[in-house]
Amino acid sequence: MNLAKFARRRYSAGQTPLEALPRLSAALGGPNIFMKRDDLTGLASGGNKTRKLEFLVADALAQGCDTLVTVGAVQSNHCRLTLAAAAKEGLKCRLVLEQRVPGSYDPRASGNNFLFELIGAETITVVDAGADLAAAMGAVAEAVASLGRKAYVIPGGGSNALGSMGYVACFEEIMAQAFDQGLRLDHLVCASGSAGTHAGLLAGAFGTCANLPITGINVRRPRAEQEANVFQLAQTSAALAGITAPLPRDSVVCLDEWVGPGYSLPTPEMVEAVRLTAALEGVLLDPVYTGKAMAGLIGMIRRGDFKAGENVLFLHTGGSPALYAYQPIF
Ligand SMILES: *Cc1c(COP(=O)(O)O)cnc(C)c1O
Repeated sequence: MNLAKFARRRYSAGQTPLEALPRLSAALGGPNIFMKRDDLTGLASGGNKTRKLEFLVADALAQGCDTLVTVGAVQSNHCRLTLAAAAKEGLKCRLVLEQRVPGSYDPRASGNNFLFELIGAETITVVDAGADLAAAMGAVAEAVASLGRKAYVIPGGGSNALGSMGYVACFEEIMAQAFDQGLRLDHLVCASGSAGTHAGLLAGAFGTCANLPITGINVRRPRAEQEANVFQLAQTSAALAGITAPLPRDSVVCLDEWVGPGYSLPTPEMVEAVRLTAALEGVLLDPVYTGKAMAGLIGMIRRGDFKAGENVLFLHTGGSPALYAYQPIF
C-alpha cells in the first residue's frame, strides 16, 4: 500500500501512544491488555474521526469547498471533530443531528453538544431516527450553494473508503510500533459503529499480511447487519488502498452482545468498564462507544476467548467529552 498518494492534512503530532495496561490486565486475570491511544489524536479532544478527516478535509480543500456538512447523533464525536477541522482550516461547518433516541436533542445539553456551539456550527438541523440522512445533508448542501458557496458532504462517522484510509494508516502505525517495542500482538479489539474504523483496520491488516485477528464490538446494530456493512466498506477501502486480492469475508467479526437496549443507551457492563479503566489506569473511556467496546473485551476475557500470555490490543477511539452528558448514570 502507498498511502502517500492521497492528499492529506495533518491534525496530530506524530504517532499516538501504544501502551500497556498492566493494572487492568492484572485485575481481569486474563491476557495482557495494551491500548492504542487514539483518544490522543489532534483536534478538539481527539478521537478516531481525526484520522479520517485528515483525508476527507484534504479532498474538500482540493475540490475548492468552503463548507463542511456532516451528520451524527446528538452527542456525536464526529460532528465535534468535523467542526474542529473546519475551524482549523477556516471553513464553515453545518450539522445534521439525528435523534436516534426519540426526543434526545437538548440544545442546552453538556458534552459534545456544548462543544458544537462553542466551536461554532453555522447551522444545526435536527431530524428524527429513520430520516433519510443523505437527503437531509443534500438539502443543507443546496442551501449552502444558494449562498454562492460550495459544500463538501461527509457521511456519518466519516465512513467512506477515503475516510477509512485513516485506519489503514493507523494499522500500519500499530504494526510499526509493535515491531519497535518487540511486542507480538495476538488480537485487536475495537468499537464498530459507522464501520470506517473497523473496515480500515481490516483492509490494513489484509494489505500488510499481518495475520492479526480483529474483533469489532457493535454499538448499535445486530451482528449480521454490522458484518455486512463492515465487509462492504472493507472491500471498497482495500480497493482504494490498492489491494487487488479479495478480502476474506471470515476476517470480519462483529459481536453484538454488548449493545444492550440500543445505541447510546447505558448498560451495567459499560458502566463497570468505564469505572474500571478510569480507576485502574487513569484512562477515560466514553459511554457510547469505547465503554461498550471495553465491556466487550472484558466479557470476552471472562468467557475465556483468550489464552494466558496472549497480547490483546484495544483501540481507544476517543469520546470522553460525552461522559459529561452522562454524569447521572455514573
Ligand atoms: C465514531 C466512534 C467510534 C466508531 O467508529 P466508526 O468508524 O464509526 O465505526 C468509536 N468510538 C468513538 C469514540 C467514536 O466517536
